[in-house]
Amino acid sequence: MPDAAVAARSSEKTNSAGTTQQADVAVVGAGFAGLYLLHKLRKAGFSVVVIEEAGDVGGTWYWNRYPGARCDIQTIDYSYTFDPELDRAWTWSEKYATQPEILRYFNFVADRYDLRRDIRFGTKVKAANWDDTSGRWQLLTDNGASISCRYYIMATGCLSAPKPPEIEGVKDFKGAVYFTGRWPHHGVDFTGKRVAVIGTGSSGIQSIPLIAEQAAHLAVFQRTPNFALPAHNGPTPDDRKTYFEADRAAYREQARWSLAGVPYPQEMAVSWQLSDAERRERFEKAWAAGDLVHILTQLWADQAVDFDGNALIGKLIHEKISAVVKDPETAAILSPHDHPFGAKRPCLDTNYYKTYNRPNVTLVNLRQEPIKAITASGIVTDKRSVDVDVIVFATGFDAMTGAIMAVHPITGRAGKSLSNVWANGPQTYLGLTVAGFPNLFMITGPGSPSVLSNMAVSIEQHVDWVVDRLAALREAGFTTMEATEAAQAGWSQHMADCSTLTLHRLANTWYTGANVPGKAQGVMPYTGGVGPYRSICNEVVGRGMLGFRLSGPNVAEQCNDGEVVRLQPDVRLVLGMLAEMNLPQIESLGAQGARDFITEFNKGRPAGRPVGEVGSGALQGADGPLPYRLYRPATPGPHPIVVYFHGGGWVFGDELSDDPFCRDLCRRSGMIVVSVGYRHAPEHRFPAAAEDGYAATRWIAEHAAELGGRPGPVLVAGWSAGANIATVTCQLARDRGGPQIAGQLLVCPVTDCRFDRQSYADNAVGYFLTRALMFWFWDIYCSPADRTDPRASPLRGNLANLPPAFVATCEFDPLRDEGIEYAEGLATAGVPVEQLQARGHIHSSLVMVDVVITGVSARVKMAEALRGFAGLPRKLEASGEDATPIAVNAAAG
Ligand SMILES: Cc1cc2nc3c(=O)[nH]c(=O)nc-3n(C[C@H](O)[C@H](O)[C@H](O)COP(=O)(O)OP(=O)(O)OC[C@H]3O[C@@H](n4cnc5c(N)ncnc54)[C@H](O)[C@@H]3O)c2cc1C
Repeated sequence: MPDAAVAARSSEKTNSAGTTQQADVAVVGAGFAGLYLLHKLRKAGFSVVVIEEAGDVGGTWYWNRYPGARCDIQTIDYSYTFDPELDRAWTWSEKYATQPEILRYFNFVADRYDLRRDIRFGTKVKAANWDDTSGRWQLLTDNGASISCRYYIMATGCLSAPKPPEIEGVKDFKGAVYFTGRWPHHGVDFTGKRVAVIGTGSSGIQSIPLIAEQAAHLAVFQRTPNFALPAHNGPTPDDRKTYFEADRAAYREQARWSLAGVPYPQEMAVSWQLSDAERRERFEKAWAAGDLVHILTQLWADQAVDFDGNALIGKLIHEKISAVVKDPETAAILSPHDHPFGAKRPCLDTNYYKTYNRPNVTLVNLRQEPIKAITASGIVTDKRSVDVDVIVFATGFDAMTGAIMAVHPITGRAGKSLSNVWANGPQTYLGLTVAGFPNLFMITGPGSPSVLSNMAVSIEQHVDWVVDRLAALREAGFTTMEATEAAQAGWSQHMADCSTLTLHRLANTWYTGANVPGKAQGVMPYTGGVGPYRSICNEVVGRGMLGFRLSGPNVAEQCNDGEVVRLQPDVRLVLGMLAEMNLPQIESLGAQGARDFITEFNKGRPAGRPVGEVGSGALQGADGPLPYRLYRPATPGPHPIVVYFHGGGWVFGDELSDDPFCRDLCRRSGMIVVSVGYRHAPEHRFPAAAEDGYAATRWIAEHAAELGGRPGPVLVAGWSAGANIATVTCQLARDRGGPQIAGQLLVCPVTDCRFDRQSYADNAVGYFLTRALMFWFWDIYCSPADRTDPRASPLRGNLANLPPAFVATCEFDPLRDEGIEYAEGLATAGVPVEQLQARGHIHSSLVMVDVVITGVSARVKMAEALRGFAGLPRKLEASGEDATPIAVNAAAG
């Protein structure tokens, strides 16, 4: 049926059972998302019906009426922004508004836009089926008419399906039972009551101090302690208010492009650059600020991505807990040790830890004494029986997927059921759609930033994107929109890549589904950040609805299939930043200009991490002394020596230019790294660099003991043109009778002078190292007549009897294919070789230490290979990160 006719019919709503209500769009949920959807869809001219189980608007804030319920993103940020007049018409009374105030806000919004007339309250959607013939969804409800709609939008909430208690005997309990997520409207008076609270997540932490004030006795049953920070609630802080009022539109726009949906700058200083005192000062400031996003993002740049940088915060918070909680044993039980700070949602509290100093409060550690049963009179653990009058379950939600899966079945094309498709974890495209389920949309679904962000910002972005797409479809005559399998698989891969970026994967939480027994586990929210996510959604549109199949009765089907992000997420960010910087083409600068440019450019990168000792000196090259830089591990020596050759196309760079990478190699391998300042073209053309490489290696091998290294074979390593020198050195050492080389690490090596391999065509521009730049390097270094000399193009040399090799290549690198060919050539010649083909990386990814975090696993493997070549155990030691179980990424399938 044409939409116009449907729209006409939708006005004749018949809500009695047995009839079908028609609408262009059915929205399920009348919370933050559903209300804005209704408003925006109406404005776009769609007929809409909203179905809501609750008795009124508000969603989360309708249900969660427990004592102490508040938002934990500052309310100034946790508001609608789509209408500046609405923004001005409402002023929050507190930094963190209470649940009643937030609910008043939703009522205010519903009244202002006259929303209730299209909402069916007290009605639950039970099942949803796609009908291929009509191209419409049929929704079954528990109350009144079913619904036929073209578009079905689930605004059902990430935290709206309370987790049922997993404890035996709840039904036998004779006292009162309450769930924080379904709190009675009349409130609960705990005066004189013996109360148990089970659960110490956000709801528990907010409600416990207030319940303790009323109750005769409160027993808190804690399975996992959570990090909680003082909210310091009160009026909106002046600095925030001033910033906001100075330019509201700019403030909101900054939030939209930020990482967490709150306008904070990207912190640049890394933890190891700061002294203990500086770190403490930053921490104390954050602690006093009482702002989750501040403490989660503003301490130091590596806090969310590096295990050690993160552990520093955990320690400081443990100190805070111990300072407040008088009983050391209780303080210890309350101190989280099983997850990195921020990997599980931290909480904001008011007097939480102090509450445990009260004589009427007992903490029960369920790790030591699990609950055995709930009886008629209370709770029995392994060690005790606690009689209570009231039990409060603050046990959280079946997050992100619970409310979606509760509509059962949701049947898409060919009778496919969503619960089957998601049996091993949610699969989505952009967290918005699912392949095989046309015209179904989820707001803040799994695979989108949702709960890792200020949800106000994420909800508005989703609603805008969906409604704008529906309007554009209608304009173009399309009636159906469906994600492709390829696009969805690509998104799963991107999700998996993103999840290696942060530490969320290291905690068992509701982010990963670990709180619900039997639920498939994996990091469900998108960890790549709100701004990057927004740019990807925009890119999908800009690339002709990439990854969607669009069809309609009177138009030709359209499908631009493909994966929207193939780069690693942090590489994508780096390239985006470089593009914004509008950098000159290096080859246009001349050799000295290029050197100056790179020196300046390198000043902006994070300083490398500390190693035991850094020294410098001079060694003998092929034609005179050459400078070197030596990195020594902190562990007792003597250590094997790695001779390292920097990148720079034989034209720029020096023994310092790959400093962070050399430090990383030194730390991870536990070996001495000697970075050699070999001669450059055009002053010293081929074969100066190659001969210097060989001579330097020989000198270092002969002076190993003086350098504090282990006498015997050395190892060689290099990146790019430096890897060319490393591999040439191995060939020369074999042919010239030494020195002995135990192994070679070649990172994105130049191995041949041909430019016609596919990787040169695929990656000619756009990935920093361009085809034009490689032409330029070769022209400066080596005349065409010399280029086939194996000292320039080692791939053309004899590859037999060379040291074992580790060859790393990157997908988006012009040099990719010649590196792979070199590795294959070595293998064919009988040389033991390990290959690492780094997916989604560019030429410089693997050496961009502490910038390209997704390169860590490659850097670990390189160091392990070096250790293996040197005859050492491949693993140096288990880092905290290695030691912690890593959740399987369900999104990756
Ligand atoms: C106590 C608490 C505090 C929070 N504080 C913050 C904060 O400070 N900042 C932040 O960003 N986020 C916070 N959140 C997350 C919060 O869930 C979101 O910010 C936001 O309110 C979600 O809005 P929503 O419309 O997507 O979903 P919800 O508000 O959850 O609304 C979904 C609605 O859908 C209805 N529904 C679900 N399934 C069906 C069905 N089958 N049929 C009919 N109706 C259905 C539900 O009844 C519900 O009313 C908090 C959550 C909680 C629980």
